[in-house]
Amino acid sequence: MANLKNKAPNKSPWDLTGQVAIVTGARRGMGRTHALLLAKAGAKVAVSDISQEDCQKIVDEIKKEGGQGLAIKCDVSNKEEVEEMVKKTVEEFGKIDILVNNAGICQFKPFLEMTEKEWDKTIDINLKGYFLCAQACAKEMAKQKYGKIINIASVAMGQQGIGFPNIVHYCASKGGIVGMSEALAVELAPYNITVNTVSPGLIETPMIASIKQDPKTIEAMLVRVPMHRVGKPEEVSNLVLFLASDESSYMTGSVIVVDGGWLAG
Ligand code: NAP
Repeated sequence: MANLKNKAPNKSPWDLTGQVAIVTGARRGMGRTHALLLAKAGAKVAVSDISQEDCQKIVDEIKKEGGQGLAIKCDVSNKEEVEEMVKKTVEEFGKIDILVNNAGICQFKPFLEMTEKEWDKTIDINLKGYFLCAQACAKEMAKQKYGKIINIASVAMGQQGIGFPNIVHYCASKGGIVGMSEALAVELAPYNITVNTVSPGLIETPMIASIKQDPKTIEAMLVRVPMHRVGKPEEVSNLVLFLASDESSYMTGSVIVVDGGWLAG
């Protein structure tokens, strides 16, 4: 007991005081809860999305709780805007320690009707956007030889024995994220930058609003989920916080699912 007491840390194991984070797609849904939880843990958070006004609302929430935040309008598929986001964050907070690549879209369309434009839009945001943000942030992280990149994929990432119809472009983008993350984990390890992937199942956010509107569709999906419920955004944010903290210091290149047992079922 005495030994345990001596080893007890003075601060919370997931304390991010002094750390600087960027969360993309953070105006709503899971991005919002990631940003709020990282800020609650002490990080200064750049809240980024395509609407400056909505980002500012999240920053106001952070500040109300005594945290520090910065609202930044950024379309992750636009290289100039991504570079500007990184520049503004460094100007305001001095560095970048954590990137949560979260911004994404999921637009349902049968494959035979899918246009090249629709394919390109999804890949540009969900995959190229992750590349642009990871590269711009990793350049800053490499200078300080420390960084945590957390890429949000999905159970629709492929190789899991489940195919997801009508979102072929989305599945391709999420599979691409996994491959990219593993390669990055290897390439960035010498810079002490870890890269991990979080793959959520069905989570209660505006993204699944159309699925939830149809009781038959949602039931058909939940029947595959052993816990038989939709997850809460906070249940994913808890893992993001762990991966952003030093408690995950020996983890890189990992893919972790938060899915109520869907892929195990
Ligand atoms: P969400 O509520 O739709 O949030 C996604 C956010 O990303 C939105 O605010 C969206 O803005 C923003 N965004 C879209 N395009 C962007 C761009 N070009 N640049 C910057 N931001 C952009 O969805 P969510 O469920 O929280 O999803 C967060 C992440 O989790 C996504 O990567 C998603 O694929 C993944 N995911 C979600 C689920 C789920 O069940 N919800 C499951 C697995 C994985 P707009 O609203 O204006 O488009």
